[in-house]
Amino acid sequence: MQFSTFLLKYGEIGVKGKNRYLFEDALVRQVRRALRGVDGTFKAYKSQGRIYVDCEGGYDYEETVERLQKVFGLVGICPVVRLEDKGFEELRKSVVAYMAEVYPERDLTFKVETRRAKKTYPKNSMEISCDLGEAVLEAFPEIRVDVHDPDVTLHVEIRTDAVYVYSQVIPGAGGMPSGTNGKAMLLLSGGIDSPVAGYMIARRGVGIEATYFHAPPYTSERAKQKVADLARIVAGYAGPVKLHVVNFTDIQLYIYDKCPHDELTIIMRRYMMRIAEHFAKESGCLGLITGESIGQVASQTMQSLAATDDVCALPVYRPVIGLDKQDIVDIAQKIGTFETSIQPFEDCCTIFVAKHPVTKPRVDIIRRSEESLEEKIEELVKTAIDTVEVIEAE
Ligand code: ATP
Ligand code: MG
Repeated sequence: MQFSTFLLKYGEIGVKGKNRYLFEDALVRQVRRALRGVDGTFKAYKSQGRIYVDCEGGYDYEETVERLQKVFGLVGICPVVRLEDKGFEELRKSVVAYMAEVYPERDLTFKVETRRAKKTYPKNSMEISCDLGEAVLEAFPEIRVDVHDPDVTLHVEIRTDAVYVYSQVIPGAGGMPSGTNGKAMLLLSGGIDSPVAGYMIARRGVGIEATYFHAPPYTSERAKQKVADLARIVAGYAGPVKLHVVNFTDIQLYIYDKCPHDELTIIMRRYMMRIAEHFAKESGCLGLITGESIGQVASQTMQSLAATDDVCALPVYRPVIGLDKQDIVDIAQKIGTFETSIQPFEDCCTIFVAKHPVTKPRVDIIRRSEESLEEKIEELVKTAIDTVEVIEAE
């Protein structure tokens, strides 16, 4: 079956009142972006409160659907068959052929729903639905009609140029179109949680930038590559992600040298937040995002989170805060980051981590410990910022 068009259904953006067109336009832009590079010629446009993608000639159906399923804001993707209007008898035959091909199992209930944009058509919508329903029942006696709760709703749209038939609704990613809700800075590690956190905030229409802290030679080039790969997977949903790679080695060594070892992790995390916030403000991000979840590790107790927030002026968004590890793993698997996240490469935090980190840090004590960094830390932070490497992940 050749699907020539996709009808794209959207959810929440439908209730945005006067700003609705902005969301629709953003959605059309995101659909065009998502289909860039897919084999085929596509035309995405909005028409009468709906969004369509026309596919000209041959195209890669599987890949097209896969890409559209990554567009935030879409709740359903309906592959549509376009039929030349060759009269009603032909339409009956075509609808029967459609049912035969799309539903070979036949053990189902259905109804026909007709929309008639072409008012000159010889029958009204109700008559068309009844007649086409009858045609299907005649051809397949095992199929039954259920007008209240059918397994399949066969949509038939009579338009001026052709007749459109569809019944499948492939689930979309939901959320809001990318770029309609500002931008935020994701602290992206090579772990399981932070890519999921980035995905979740991006799904609300927020554009994503990312910062990764590496510690060569303690962490390898391959570990960095893994983070770039994760940024690219997130970008498949969120749109291009600008990844800032910060060399954190000297700062870590200096903290290791000067501060109590049980406070290392928390102090390191405070410097990560400070540096990420610097890049966030520089590029107009309105918040920071981390993959923290209450109680998961010592640095994620309520006290540790408070000690981390202490250095941030921007709001810190932690979308997985209330999720169990397994919940996060489930999302990572669904969005395709899991396999990359579990590749075994060293993480800069695990190398310098203490055997018994403080689990209930007191902000005043941590601040005092940081005073012993006074001599060189400003300069080290400045160097880390000045030597940042930027990777455009898309
Ligand atoms: P993840 O699976 O996201 O790595 P985690 O469970 O390993 O999280 P931590 O290592 O405590 O937890 O990190 C908590 C959060 O801090 C991460 O989710 C991430 O947002 C940020 N973070 C940790 N390490 C780095 C790093 N090297 N670069 C950038 N951000 C980091
Ligand atoms: Mg980690």
